[in-house]
Order: sequence, then C-alpha cells, then structure tokens
Amino acid sequence: MSTAIDPAAHTLELEQHYLMQTYRRPPFVLARGEGVTLYDTDGNAYLDFVAGIAVNALGYGDPELTRTIQQAAEKLIHVSNLYSTTPQAELAAELVKRSFADRVFFCNSGAEANEGAIKFARKVVFDSGEPGKTEIVCFTGAFHGRTIAAVSLTPKEKYQKPFAPLLPDVVIAPFNDSEAAARLITDRTAAVIVEPVQGEGGINVAQPDFLRTLRALCDQHRAVLIFDEVQCGMGRTGRLWAHEWAGTTPDIMTIAKPLAGGLPIGAILVKQAVADHLHPGDHGSTFGGGPLVTSVAKVVLARVSQPAFLAQVQDTGAYLMERLEEINSPLIREVRGRGLMVGLELEVEAAPLITEGYKRGLLLVNAGEKVLRFIPPLIVQKAQVDTLIAHLTDMLRELERG
Ligand code: PLP
Repeated sequence: MSTAIDPAAHTLELEQHYLMQTYRRPPFVLARGEGVTLYDTDGNAYLDFVAGIAVNALGYGDPELTRTIQQAAEKLIHVSNLYSTTPQAELAAELVKRSFADRVFFCNSGAEANEGAIKFARKVVFDSGEPGKTEIVCFTGAFHGRTIAAVSLTPKEKYQKPFAPLLPDVVIAPFNDSEAAARLITDRTAAVIVEPVQGEGGINVAQPDFLRTLRALCDQHRAVLIFDEVQCGMGRTGRLWAHEWAGTTPDIMTIAKPLAGGLPIGAILVKQAVADHLHPGDHGSTFGGGPLVTSVAKVVLARVSQPAFLAQVQDTGAYLMERLEEINSPLIREVRGRGLMVGLELEVEAAPLITEGYKRGLLLVNAGEKVLRFIPPLIVQKAQVDTLIAHLTDMLRELERG
C-alpha cells in the first residue's frame, strides 16, 4: 500500500487545523500560473477571470515583472520610511505625471489607503477650524475595505453589525442619485467617498453626471472628494483612471490592488491643497512604498498606461460584454460594466455557477449574491473570452433545466 502524501490533502488539512476560518475556499490548492491560467497541485488548469480579485493585471509569470522582482530584491527589500529610496520617489513622480494629483503617500492595501484618505480629509477640516464639520458621506452598495473606518463606510449589515461601534457621523446616500446627494452633502460634510465603478457591490457604474454633481457639491460645501479606485483604477476600465470617463477629478484618490502586479501596495494620491495640511509625524507606515514593491509598481504603471494596452482593455472588455449579451438565457437579468470590470446579474444565486466553474477549469467570483463578476488579468485575449462564454452558456442551460 502506498503511503505517499497527497500534497493538496496535506495543505487543506493544515489549513483546517491552523488557519483562522474566515474564508470559504474550493478544495484544490493553487501552485503556479502562466498568463491567464492557474494550475493546482494536481496539474489541473484554471482559466482565471478573477485575477486575485482584480490584482494580477499582467497575469502570471510575466517575465519583466519576475526579472524586476529578482533584481530589486538583490538590491534592497526594505528600509522603512525613515530613509529615502529611489524607486519610491520615481513611482510617486510617475503617478503624479499620469493623474490629477500633486503628491502621493504610500501604504500597503486598499483599506489602509482609504483609512489614510479619511485621516487626510479630517486634517484638512481640523485646520479649517469650521465647527460641526464631522460627517462622511458614502453610498449604498459601496465597499471600501475591512478596517474599522473602511468598514464603517461599507453599508452592509453582515460586514458592520458584529463590529460595532463603528465610526460616528457616517451618512449613507443612495448611489447614482444626484438629488439625494444634494440633500445629504451639506456644510457638515467633511468628506465624500465613492467608487467610480462599484466592485464588490455588484459592478455598478457611477453615471458621469453623478460624479460631476458630487464634485460640484463638495466644492460648494468645502468637503473633500475621495474617489476609491482600488478596484476600478489602473487601467481596469480601459482608461488609466475610471473617473476619466466622467471628465472630473477628486481631491484624493486611493489605489491599491493591481499597482504592484500582485505584491501588496496601496497609494493615496492627493491635490496640493490637501498635502499642504499634512506634516511630518501626521501619518506613517512602516512598509508603505518600500523599494521592492515600488520597483515593481513602476513597471506595472508603465505597461498599463500605454495607449495600446488601454485600447486592448477597452476592446476585449467590449467583446466580453457583447458575448455575454448574446447568451440568451432567462436566468440573465443584466450585463453591465466598463472595460474588463463586468457584471452579469442573474435571477438566481451565482454560487452554484462558481462551483461548477471549478469543475470545468474556470475561476469565477461573485459580487453580491446574484452577480457574477468578471475581472480577469488585463492581458486576457478574445479566444479566452470565447472559452468562458462557451462554459457559461452550457452552465446556464444546465441550470435552466434544473
Ligand atoms: N476599496 C475597494 C473599491 C475594493 O474593492 C477593496 C477590496 O476589494 C478595498 C477598498 C479594500 O482593499 P484591500 O482588500 O486591499 O484592503
């Protein structure tokens, strides 16, 4: 009798015993990746329409990224923000050159970037001396992360209720409702935070008019406008920043997920008028913007900002939406999104389709209970979209038959 240990079973058993059970995972173990395909420890291939939740913009095993990581690691991994390093300064300069912003603060994740953005807005208000300016406006369907401040601005009972008390003075406004925004944004508003395309909330695109109205209301009431582009930024919508589609700009923008191609990083991009209020000692991070991650982020930013790269994201994204529209199924309620950030709203729960996808070698993720979300690596090809559509069509037919 063979006594060889099954590597997947071994890993899953360790997980069961030793990991906090905060995630529900399928019963396979991912071992390596190439392009848009992941492989498990048994050698099964999975076409990936998740990209580590909108992170792996350049897919897996990109030679330039791998080389950059190796070379940067040989030089310097970490020194803390007590000291200057060149990749950090250069990445900040590149981000400023390619955005509305004048200055950048680096941190390690999306939630941490939003946490910092709220602190920056509070500091602006503190310095203004205006009394009673304490409210932060967020929107229905928003997701800004899991730290206490970020979760306070993520109006979903399941995420919030067990963790009370949350941040006070949070005002929840209906998404894409300019009239309600005009009522709820007042002189008491310190900051307004919004995703130009909501991700976790179900792939909801903010109407250009709505974002422009928020800009005008924030100007009128001296409130800080924050765009959370953690999921929709860095080329995902086919423009470098999702708010470019609306022709308006925020005072602060938070980014994270794809910025360093899969290494942890977050960034807070701000106008000079915000930066003027932050001084040495006001905010900090031990790891934020270290030389290894910023070396890699420079490569990712240079690649995704190329006009040809962005044009391909728009083209493949439009093709994905078109092909989804063609699936003629009574189980489909709506196809929506922008670029390679696409949602398929269903009449039924998405979970069984995700499970069936695993069996067929397809990684899918939901956004809310009834929305399948497609956020593949930005290098995905039309032929891979065709494979997805063939499986989805089949899976929906099977589901229709019950
Ligand atoms: N903001 C948005 C729009 C997100 O989609 C997410 C994560 O999904 C976050 C913030 C939180 O980012 P992180 O998980 O890196 O803390």
